[in-house]
Amino acid sequence: MVEAKSSPRDPVATPQPVGGLLSPHQTGTPLIALDGVTKAFPSGDDVVVVLHGITLSIFTGEMVAIIGASGSGKSTLMNILGCLDRATSGTYLIGGRETGSLDPDELAKLRREHFGFIFQRYHLLSELTSIGNVEVPAIYSGVTPAGRVARASMLLTRLGMADRLEYPPGKLSGGQQQRVSIARALMNDANVILADEPTGALDHASGEEVLAILTELNREGRTVILVTHDMAVARRANRIIEISDGRVVSDSPVDHSTDAPVGGQAAEAMSAATVTASQGGLHAWRAAFDRFGEAFKMALMSMRAHGLRTFLTMLGIIIGIASVVAVVALGEGSREKVLAGISNLGTNTLEIFPGLNYGDLRSGKVQTLKLADALEIARQPYAAGVAPTVTLSTTVRLGSLELSAQVNGVGAEYFSVKGTQLAAGQYFTDNSVTHMTQEVVIDDNTRAALFPAAKLSPVGQIILIGKVPATIVGVLQKQLTGFGNSTSLSVYLPYTTVQARFTGSSTLRSILLLVSDDTDSTLAEQAATKFLIARHGVLDFFIMNNDDIRQTITATTDTMTLLIAAIAVISLVVGGIGVMNIMLVSVSERVKEIGVRMAVGARRSDILQQFLTEAVLVCIVGGILGIMLALLAGQIFAALGSSFTFVYSATSIIGAFAVSTLIGIAFGYLPARSAAQLDPVVALERE
Ligand code: ADP
Ligand code: MG
Repeated sequence: MVEAKSSPRDPVATPQPVGGLLSPHQTGTPLIALDGVTKAFPSGDDVVVVLHGITLSIFTGEMVAIIGASGSGKSTLMNILGCLDRATSGTYLIGGRETGSLDPDELAKLRREHFGFIFQRYHLLSELTSIGNVEVPAIYSGVTPAGRVARASMLLTRLGMADRLEYPPGKLSGGQQQRVSIARALMNDANVILADEPTGALDHASGEEVLAILTELNREGRTVILVTHDMAVARRANRIIEISDGRVVSDSPVDHSTDAPVGGQAAEAMSAATVTASQGGLHAWRAAFDRFGEAFKMALMSMRAHGLRTFLTMLGIIIGIASVVAVVALGEGSREKVLAGISNLGTNTLEIFPGLNYGDLRSGKVQTLKLADALEIARQPYAAGVAPTVTLSTTVRLGSLELSAQVNGVGAEYFSVKGTQLAAGQYFTDNSVTHMTQEVVIDDNTRAALFPAAKLSPVGQIILIGKVPATIVGVLQKQLTGFGNSTSLSVYLPYTTVQARFTGSSTLRSILLLVSDDTDSTLAEQAATKFLIARHGVLDFFIMNNDDIRQTITATTDTMTLLIAAIAVISLVVGGIGVMNIMLVSVSERVKEIGVRMAVGARRSDILQQFLTEAVLVCIVGGILGIMLALLAGQIFAALGSSFTFVYSATSIIGAFAVSTLIGIAFGYLPARSAAQLDPVVALERE
């Protein structure tokens, strides 16, 4: 026999005597009691009244046919009976309980636990197999996946569909589809079967089988309500209620004494199906998790079904996320690179230049900084070391080649503090500075100009700088700073050599001041400024504090990153709107599916969850692809030997992931809610 699975809080079961709702006996309380039920549909400014005060009672265990001409209101009545729709006025009691005050979720619970629907057009979900379709009601009632599959295949097997378990509806005949829908109606062990023209789309033989199954289900004790316009079908019931123009015009029992015996194989098979409801119930949170899993599966299925559309929708998210991650990585990369260049100088380095700013410096005519300044500053308590530099322009010559170059007179420590890299040879030393040696370090541009044959190492060669011969001791690597590619040639000599052999003067291009460890660089900057003003009488120099440079660069790159990231965020929002748009399309395309799910007992939250999951999934997958694209871009740039460096931070990647999830939730919510708020009967009728 059918098992009761009503909880004590069940609005139907509570007032029932033991066995009440499911009792095969006609006790005092009818299972279904309509009193003066009317239904009116708004039609323009008017209303069309379809049901005019229907009053009838149906008792547990009855098999009732509702017959009437097309358009007489049978389906409207059936939808009210099945709690898919509400009466406009009048009362509808199920097991003595008023249904008018139940909220949509309570109605869904009633449909889920007590009603099984069989429709003329089957209303199967085309993307699911037979088993998948039969399982759906049990997903919403919280049966374990294993329990669902077992019961669905048992029901289908009993209905003669054992060899069609994995077929999608499109590959089944009408009669077979109707059997699947009968199995679905029985999945939650419904005690009331509502069949609206169940044979209307079937050939005679299939129709007979379906009717035989319904008769058998009634014999098991289920209440069967059958809607038809065909008297031959109606006569299979034990009672016929005829309606015409929304009114009950007759209600009479059927005398079966003269009937020929009926009941085919299917019906006999069904008798054994007397469903030992093997519903392994789940804990509430497990059930919720399971429903989420199902929503996830459905989301994947629908994404796959509309692959191209899903991908195009995702593209907005992919591009948005990829650009956010890439831009942040690029910004971080260039910042680190610039800072790495500066950090060789240490925080405690000041650079003193003549003139008032870089504009003055470039003119080359400001000669306010002298060697004496450097020597004096070196004596100050905050100075740990001083490296004067001198520059001048002259020619370098090798054989017949003669090119103009910038000659830099520097200290030996210059290279390490500037962070230059050697391609060949070595730097000159403090000793070279002391002895004014004619040793020269050339940059890559000079090497390329003087020694185009790359294989030949220029170390040891002698070149003429101006009129002074100098031995090449080292070659610098190509500079890859972010400051543009200079094509000018630079050579480096000990500053003592430059002063002695070239300028003869004591004018300096700059003084590199290493501040002692125990002094703050800002304080040292102030002290040095004071000291030099005292010496010169005027402010005719400026000091670059590497700390300031670092801060300026950090601030600049941060601003840039923020700016570009803001643009990327705008593109993400646009992507999100695309997702919302497509989700709205998806909802409107799948209104029917939503109706079917609601008919078998899906709560509004289940529908909301399903569409929200789909939107979030599209965005998360888009986000992951976007992150991968950004990582790939970094790889490609690196492989191409580009000077762009990508430094990916976990924060930006996790942030991008979170943002794409949020976009899915934010832009998926509206379409999902519009799906969840659909009226089940409206949804079901949508073509
Ligand atoms: P039956 O199932 O008996 O053929 P229905 O119950 O489907 O009839 O419909 C009865 C009448 O109600 C028809 O005239 C139909 O046009 C009208 N009707 C049904 N649903 C709606 C609706 N949502 N809005 C307006 N009129 C409706
Ligand atoms: Mg109808």
